[in-house]
Parts: sequence; structure tokens; C-alpha cells
Amino acid sequence: MSGRFAQADVLSLLLDECGQAVLAVAPQSLEVRYANGEAARLLGGTPAQLVGMRITEIETGLQDHFFWEEVAAGTARELIAAEAQYRDLRGQVRPVERSVRRCAAAGEAFYLVTARDIALERANEDLAARTASLLAATLESMADGILVLDLEGEVRNFNRRFTEMFGISASLSVSPRGDEALSMMRTHFRLPANWDAALAAVLEDPARHRDFTFALDDGRNLDCAARPQLLRGHAVGVLFCFLDVTDRARYQQALIAAKEVAETANRAKSQFLSSMSHELKTPLNAILGFTQLLEFDRHPEQEDSLRTIRQAGDHLLSLINEVLDLARIEAGRIELHIQELEVREILSQALAIAQPALARHGVTLDSEIAPSATQVMADPLRLRQILINLLSNAAKYNRPGGEIHVRVTPASLPHGPAVSIAIADNGIGIADADLPRLFQPFSRLENTRERTEGTGLGLALTLRLAELMRGSVKVESELGNGSTFQLLLPAG
Ligand code: ADP
Repeated sequence: MSGRFAQADVLSLLLDECGQAVLAVAPQSLEVRYANGEAARLLGGTPAQLVGMRITEIETGLQDHFFWEEVAAGTARELIAAEAQYRDLRGQVRPVERSVRRCAAAGEAFYLVTARDIALERANEDLAARTASLLAATLESMADGILVLDLEGEVRNFNRRFTEMFGISASLSVSPRGDEALSMMRTHFRLPANWDAALAAVLEDPARHRDFTFALDDGRNLDCAARPQLLRGHAVGVLFCFLDVTDRARYQQALIAAKEVAETANRAKSQFLSSMSHELKTPLNAILGFTQLLEFDRHPEQEDSLRTIRQAGDHLLSLINEVLDLARIEAGRIELHIQELEVREILSQALAIAQPALARHGVTLDSEIAPSATQVMADPLRLRQILINLLSNAAKYNRPGGEIHVRVTPASLPHGPAVSIAIADNGIGIADADLPRLFQPFSRLENTRERTEGTGLGLALTLRLAELMRGSVKVESELGNGSTFQLLLPAG
């Protein structure tokens, strides 16, 4: 191998491996006369395929065409690091950065093009731009004011909400006048005495999460959370997130005031009711007592009037008792004596009391108690009250000659074993749409209002009492086909 040949080889190798695409282009014909290995790799072919092509088949951008036209016309200047569009042999276009120099060798002039693929760089730039725009859009749409300081305490970023919160001109640039933001903030803050020390502490230990509350001169209250800005696990700055909590603080104060008013009103109501209880019942009992006396010695013409007084008095008494019971429950002032009770015993007491109502409505009753469901945990007085109410409803809202079936069976509640006392009638029933308001105080259904007397409070009381005894009440009914009320109580 001769020395000259070896030198040419080395030069060609160097050209192939120089990391840049190199093309030599003839000035008038614009034909590629030489292409190195990198140019072939960039354009997806061999150097031999590129030689003979017009450079404008490779450089396809509009600017590139104008440039090479000028070259052909002899009026072009050289280009340094200009961007161009290269179309490879598969027809794909990619951005490159290339320089064009006019050279001469062996008396022949040519243009030397050196190019570098910048597709990856452009993709990275696009990605960075997209990330930055996403971040900016997110920041701008936030309801919180954001301020980012670097570890020297210089402002690095903030959003529009932050400028609004502190009355800072929105046109203020982040840098280099960013520190103006801080000084403007200072003038708006009624800074706590230790603000500077607190800021210094945040910057000294930026990885730590800290929370502050600030009061502005204009009466606003701000919550502020200081969080580290992390880069590969290390704090490179601190992000302050300001939230205007003035309204929240105001609502809280209003809520506390409203609660106090409600509590005072509730206390007044309970006091009023407990004193009224006595005031209402004393004269009523006198009316009922004396009516009873008059009934012993009645004149036939007074009979109707006496019955009316007696019925109105009874009704008023049950209304007063139920209203007072409900009021006591709502004021949390009802006392229960929960104990183990024999269902059979309480049921027969309730039946004895409800018997006149059953007879009056001409209904018959049968009952069945499963041997495994004999005891419940309940208050005897209140359980009797519930059963009397359910039994008298089953009689009141029945049809003449109707039936009532009482079934006591084992059941379960979410918190343990229970006993179910189901009272089923075959009376007028309840429409599905009416079921949700059955247990609301004073709700009497349309089809029953005219028919029987009642207060509309019995079921409301029944449910609240059952719940106070850790039980519940369920109802199943079909309009025209009777109802079943099921009382569930914890098993004894
Ligand atoms: P009251 O019976 O004093 O009106 P309740 O609270 O006991 O009040 O009952 C509320 C309403 O529910 C009654 O007015 C009635 O319309 C309806 N209701 C209760 N029990 C039955 C039942 N067994 N069958 C049909 N409707 C009933």
C-alpha cells in the first residue's frame, strides 16, 4: 500500500466518521458530486445513490430552493448554521442544521454542505415547550396563589392569582425584577413579627413542609403552605401556595353564631315545653275529671255534648303527650330504662289497653310467639307505647270485620341478634308514594284523614323510640290490601 493511497483512505475514513453529513455540490448544475458516509446514513442510502442527484431534491424547503437558485445564478452568499428541510430517499422530511461554504479544489469551484440531524433536538424542544405550556396553563387556572422562590430567596415564578391576591402588577416579569413581587407583598402584608425569621427558616430547611396563616391589612385571611421544589430528590427552591380563607373564616364565625342562637332557642324551647307540660295538663285533667263526674249524673239532652267534650279532651291529651314526648326526644331529654323484657308480657299488656279500640273497629286479632324469640332489650313503658300505637293503627286503618296478625320471630340487626314483632292488618293499606313520609311528624295520609281521628305523631314517635332502643321500624304495604309494620329490637 503506497503512502499516498493510505493518506486518501485515512481522509475518506475521517470524512465518513466526522459525525456530520458532507456533500459537495456543483455550482451551476447543483448536482451532488460527493457524499460522505454520514450523508448516506442521514438520507437512507449509499454515497453512490446520492452522487448525481440535484441538491434541491434533498433540500426541499422553500427557503432552500430560493437559496440554491441564487447559487445557480451566482449571487448566493455562504450560509452558517441555518436550518433546512432534508428529504431522505424514502421521502421522509426531517429538520437539519447545515452550513454551506464556497470552496475550490484543483481549480474547480464547488459548494461544500455540512449538515447535522436536529430532529431529536426539535422533538425535545417541542416536549419542553409543551411541558412548560402545560405547567403555565395549570398554574394560571389555579384558584390558589402560587409563588416560587429559589434558595437565595429570589422570585422564580408566580401565577396570575398570586398577583391578584397581593395587588401586584400582572405585567411584572419573573426575572430580573421578580424580587419586586416580594417587596410589594411585604407592603401588603401585616407581617407577623417573626416573618423574616420564618422565611429564613423555610429557606434554610427547604425540604420541610410548613404551614402559615396571614392576615392582610384589608382584613383578608390567607392560609399559606410552603413546600419544597424538588429536583432529583433535592430541594432547589420553595413553593408557597396561598389560599384566601376569608370567606371560610367568615362562614365559620357565622356558623358558630348560628349554632349558639339555635342552642339558645333549643334551651328556651325545652324550658318552655317542660313548664307548659304542667300548665297544659292540669286544666285538661280537671276538664276530663269533671266531665267524667257529669257523665254519672247526666241528663239525656246533655249526652251528646258531654261525649264531644270527653272525646275532644282525650284527643287533646294524647296530642299534648305525644308532642311533649317528641320534644323531649329532640332535646335529648328522654330517659329510657332499658332492660331484659318478656315480649309475651308486654304484648299482653298492650293488647289489654288496645282491646277497646279493636272492639270499636270490629277487628279480630291473633298472635304467635316463636319459642326462640321471647326476650328483648327495651324500656317497658316505651315498648308498650309503641305496641299500643301500632295495634291501634292496625285497628283504625282496617276494614270492618278485618283481621290483625301479630307474629314474634327471631331476626337480626346490623349490630346483633334481634327480635321482630310484626303487626299485619288487612285494611286500607298505604300507597308506595306515601311510605317515605309516614314517619314524619304530623303527616296523616289523604285517604285516612277524614276517616279516623289521630294526631299524625304516633309513627314519628314509634320510630324515634325504637331507634333510641337501638332498634328500627320497617313497613310493607299495598294500597287496598293491608300493611305490615315490623318492629325490630335487640334480643335479650
Ligand atoms: P295517626 O294514626 O295519629 O294519624 P300515625 O303517625 O300513627 O298517626 O300514622 C300516620 C299516618 O300513617 C296515619 O294518619 C295513616 O294515614 C297512616 N297509617 C298508619 N298506620 C297505618 C295502617 N296500619 N294502615 C294504613 N295506614 C296507616
